[in-house]
Amino acid sequence: MNLSLSDFVLFIVFGSCALVLLFAVVSRTLHARAESRSLANRVICRLCLHVFEDHGHDKIVQCPHCHAANEKGRSRRLG
Ligand SMILES: [Zn+2]
Repeated sequence: MNLSLSDFVLFIVFGSCALVLLFAVVSRTLHARAESRSLANRVICRLCLHVFEDHGHDKIVQCPHCHAANEKGRSRRLG
């Protein structure tokens, strides 16, 4: 197979396009993962609605604003 210059240029163009696409997908995935992780650590105070993040493993965290005890995790409780 004889690789001509135009083939080579085409290869470079498609290659860089694929690289850019790959980078976009990877960065988006990493961003989404980081966001969901920070969302999982996000606690909204039930008293003063102060939003803060807690990276500990305790289920009950104290609001830094009003020091009320808040339950961490999905605050959507049915019933
Ligand atoms: Zn509070």
